[in-house]
Amino acid sequence: MTDAESCIIIGAGISGLLAAQHLMRYDVEVTILEKSRGCGGRMAVKKMGESVFDSGAQFMTTRDMIFRERVESWLDKGEVLPWYQGPLKNMRYVGSKGMTTVPERIGASLNVMLSERVTKVSFKKKKWTVTTNPHGTKENKKYTANWLIMTAPVPQNLELLDASGIELDYDDEMELKKISYLRCLTVMAQLNGPSGIPNPGAMDLNHDVLRWLGDNSAKGISPVEGTITLHSSPKFADTYWDRPEEERIQAMLAAAKPFIKADVVEAISHRWGFSDPVRIYREKHPFRKPYFIDDEMQLGMAGDGFNGPRIEAAGLSGMDLAAAILSPV
Ligand SMILES: Cc1cc2nc3c(=O)[nH]c(=O)nc-3n(C[C@H](O)[C@H](O)[C@H](O)COP(=O)(O)OP(=O)(O)OC[C@H]3O[C@@H](n4cnc5c(N)ncnc54)[C@H](O)[C@@H]3O)c2cc1C
Repeated sequence: MTDAESCIIIGAGISGLLAAQHLMRYDVEVTILEKSRGCGGRMAVKKMGESVFDSGAQFMTTRDMIFRERVESWLDKGEVLPWYQGPLKNMRYVGSKGMTTVPERIGASLNVMLSERVTKVSFKKKKWTVTTNPHGTKENKKYTANWLIMTAPVPQNLELLDASGIELDYDDEMELKKISYLRCLTVMAQLNGPSGIPNPGAMDLNHDVLRWLGDNSAKGISPVEGTITLHSSPKFADTYWDRPEEERIQAMLAAAKPFIKADVVEAISHRWGFSDPVRIYREKHPFRKPYFIDDEMQLGMAGDGFNGPRIEAAGLSGMDLAAAILSPV
């Protein structure tokens, strides 16, 4: 057993939350520091008046028995609902009140400090000290623990370590630097009537401009009809990333027009700088582990950058890292 008495986790996305749950079962004192106002990370919900939109991940799937058991327990609690079967015949599950339903409930049972962006980390005498800047203040807060888990997209973890003057083993750093992500632009639009998107209310498009079109009312999370989410292709995101928001919205709505049967009343957009990893950690290594761990530094990293671009993969990465921290080296 490693000497993991306390652990700070940066990020309350699915990987950080499931890592925390696992560690707490073994009496490790866990503090999660999250820069946003809520839990979920890329499992995100936006509201526009009464309309509810899943703005990031749209559904979750399961391939692994351990994660399937989790999903079954969430199904029993009514926190996730089956939506429809995808092309590989695996069920696509949605959060009953949007994709944040499960992360918000898990987060409520943990010690999560919201609206606290981690700005600096330091490691001295086998202790991590983590500095945060609570949103809307000029003050700094400090937390200490003997382990640190980082679950932000990997380039952001490396930037934070670099800015804090923390050096990793050279080979590890080179491998971590190879992890790369796609970008995605999202438009959430309220229509003046039913979207007309055929049952089940979603289309995987693989279009030059659009990759996904989904109706949040058909999905059962928005009480208002005609509440749609559009995700762009990575190519479109790269081209339009720095264009004015209005231009991005208009181009994506024009591409969606042939598929929808009502007019747009209002639309907003979001830019995802790290939507899904295209290259994961040590991708080509035969004994690849779905996380990064440095026992000497009492440092771990987890998330989809270590296991693949899906909620399940990110969640398992967090759980496996927590198990590795608790296991003999
Ligand atoms: C547009 C889009 C569509 C997707 N669609 C699907 C889908 O349909 N199905 C699917 O399975 N997956 C989908 N994914 C992928 C899925 O959302 C991710 O793989 C998964 O949610 C990643 O979880 P994570 O815990 O690794 O990271 P994240 O969810 O990104 O969590 C990291 C957390 O760290 C926080 N953080 C970062 N830096 C700091 C800091 N300095 N201080 C404090 N907190 C910090 C962030 O705010 C965030 O909450 C999609 C992703 C996107 C963006």
